[in-house]
Amino acid sequence: MNTESKNIPSNLSSVDRKQISARGKSVLNKGEVALVGSGPGDAELLTIRAMRFIEQAEIAIYDRLVSEEILDLLPESCERFYVGKEQAKHCVPQDRINEILVDEARKGKKVLRLKGGDPFIFGRGGEEAEYMLQNGVSCHICPGITAASGCTTYAGIPLTHRGVAQGCTFITGHLQNDGQLNLPWQSLCSETQTVVFYMGINTLPTIAKKLVEHGRDINTPAALIRKGTQPEQKTYRGTIGNLAELVEKHNITPPTLIVIGDVVNQLTEKQLATPGFLDAKDYMQIQDIKTA
Ligand code: SAH
Repeated sequence: MNTESKNIPSNLSSVDRKQISARGKSVLNKGEVALVGSGPGDAELLTIRAMRFIEQAEIAIYDRLVSEEILDLLPESCERFYVGKEQAKHCVPQDRINEILVDEARKGKKVLRLKGGDPFIFGRGGEEAEYMLQNGVSCHICPGITAASGCTTYAGIPLTHRGVAQGCTFITGHLQNDGQLNLPWQSLCSETQTVVFYMGINTLPTIAKKLVEHGRDINTPAALIRKGTQPEQKTYRGTIGNLAELVEKHNITPPTLIVIGDVVNQLTEKQLATPGFLDAKDYMQIQDIKTA
């Protein structure tokens, strides 16, 4: 670890001292990697720790899900290395990404590995960290706001709500290597549980069918959130029964999150005009309609 933070000159003001010592917690040294979650897109959802690593990066190795707005925050001198991934057709195979991280660190660079959302939630961050450690490269790990949290919040959907949803599950809708979608369906069917599917847009018809087969009401509210927290954010509300139709009608493509549960319509039934802003006027109108 770097010792800069311990050697703070004594003639600085207390504010400066505080700032320097705080920065000291997230010092990226040469030959190290910072594995950083960039959240679902809005740069304002970056953590301060993520921002500190971004500012120090000499090379950034990043995925398709990292937004332009966040890439714009990289220092001008920072080299950019795109290893974008799309479901099932990896631009750069995972093994190669692992090697690139180790190679760049061994060259003595301050390496930033920037990933969408949280690196340890459907992000293969654990595999990357393991490979780096096995090869003697140390890495800082920094969480990001995962899509399930960021996108639902910006769409006005609370993942849990007293009396409505006691818990929530994040699960992948991505097909397994054998081409199957073997999920613990029964455990996803409690009425008071919100279920969020990542990477599920291509398997949505199967997801809907299996949930209903295992007892989830076909009329359970459901939503699709595309490009959550980004300027293009769109929320499509419906029910388990008509989600697949919505995908076809609106030609919805990844990155899209599927949210199942009564919380979907708890605070609003509308597309928020400003993502992340709940307008009291809209809420009043809905309450008036409901009580009319
Ligand atoms: N590590 C990431 C998830 C990567 S898996 C995280 O923690 O968020 C990729 C899937 O995440 C996408 O297929 C989509 O289902 C979801 N996703 C990620 N960012 C999203 C966004 N801004 N809007 C909607 N879905 C998103």
